Amino acid sequence: MLRTVERIPLVDLDVHHAPLQRELAAAAARVLVSNRFVLGPELSAFEREASMALGVRSAVGVSSGTDALTCLLLAAGVGAGHEVITTPYSFFATAEAIVRAGARPVFADIDPHTLNLDPARAGERVGPRTAAVLVVHLFGRPVSLDRFGEVCAANALPLIEDAAQAIGAAAPGRLAGSARALGAAISFFPAKNLGGFGDGGMVLTDDGEIAARVRRLRNHGAERKHHHFEAGGNFRLDELQAALLRVKLPNLVRWTEARRQVAAAYHLQLADLPLQLPPADPCCVWNQFVVRVRDGRRDHLAAHLADRGVETAVHYPVPIHMQPAFRSLGHRPGEFPHAEQAARDSLALPIFPELTSGQIARVAAAIADFFG
Ligand SMILES: *Cc1c(COP(=O)(O)O)cnc(C)c1O
Repeated sequence: MLRTVERIPLVDLDVHHAPLQRELAAAAARVLVSNRFVLGPELSAFEREASMALGVRSAVGVSSGTDALTCLLLAAGVGAGHEVITTPYSFFATAEAIVRAGARPVFADIDPHTLNLDPARAGERVGPRTAAVLVVHLFGRPVSLDRFGEVCAANALPLIEDAAQAIGAAAPGRLAGSARALGAAISFFPAKNLGGFGDGGMVLTDDGEIAARVRRLRNHGAERKHHHFEAGGNFRLDELQAALLRVKLPNLVRWTEARRQVAAAYHLQLADLPLQLPPADPCCVWNQFVVRVRDGRRDHLAAHLADRGVETAVHYPVPIHMQPAFRSLGHRPGEFPHAEQAARDSLALPIFPELTSGQIARVAAAIADFFG
């Protein structure tokens, strides 16, 4: 008889939410009986609590991380005829938001060590139409805002952060969304470090004017009912999501610490294998733990792990400049070799706060067995 092996998922929301189920149900019930569902007291309270927890003056809830990016770009004055410099190695939404804002994404290659946009290469792409630099703290690893701050200051450009995967990540000395950058977009997609129960996102900023503009954009450009000052959209975070996220927010620091312990355990247990591990970084919040697999063996390792009940994922198999949606930009394979190499050899292993030491050991043993 076949022994059934316990499956180890990439993310396990069952164990993640189990201890909170009663509190979550109570929060949802509170909203249901209130019959207030949009722009109400739960959102105001969540925005206050999030701004305190994340160390920023303003936190503005919106409908998704993608909409947070679009609103932030529009609020920064990005529009038609502009270019925004960004990374070709991220989730598609990073570049999509630039197009939604009316501008053109201009890519620069990544640093092969951190997988984040390389500040020197980004600086080389600045031209007369450049309106902003959009960095991504990929997989939860903060970019150096000091380095990008210098690039932006030298060219009088706003720096904008896609912190969808990096809520609470401290870039040297500070939290994502404060100080050097104009603002940061975060996502509450369920698989992010602070996941909601559907879609949601938030703009974090210390700039009062940017916060006010995002508040207006998220609600049809209206400052009061039926008085519209610009075409925005319906980008609101609803009361149900806000109430549920308020239950989860106080646990974020503890969950981040648990992710760091998982990453540290992987570093120890995978150290002697012929894999390239993500660099250790005390500021990283490890939304993903992504290893590099040499010699074209990435997909073989993934299949080997799947056979042993270990779920993995490829983030991202197609770099953004090679997506069919951006064919009109005219990019060619080979233009951003570090991003293209990462797309070929990166593999994300299971990581979530409740991953047990037994599960980590099983993942490590299954990988060791592959190279055995
Ligand atoms: C998830 C994600 C987004 C988009 O967030 P949504 O809430 O899914 O719209 C944008 N950028 C990055 C890097 C992401 O991981």
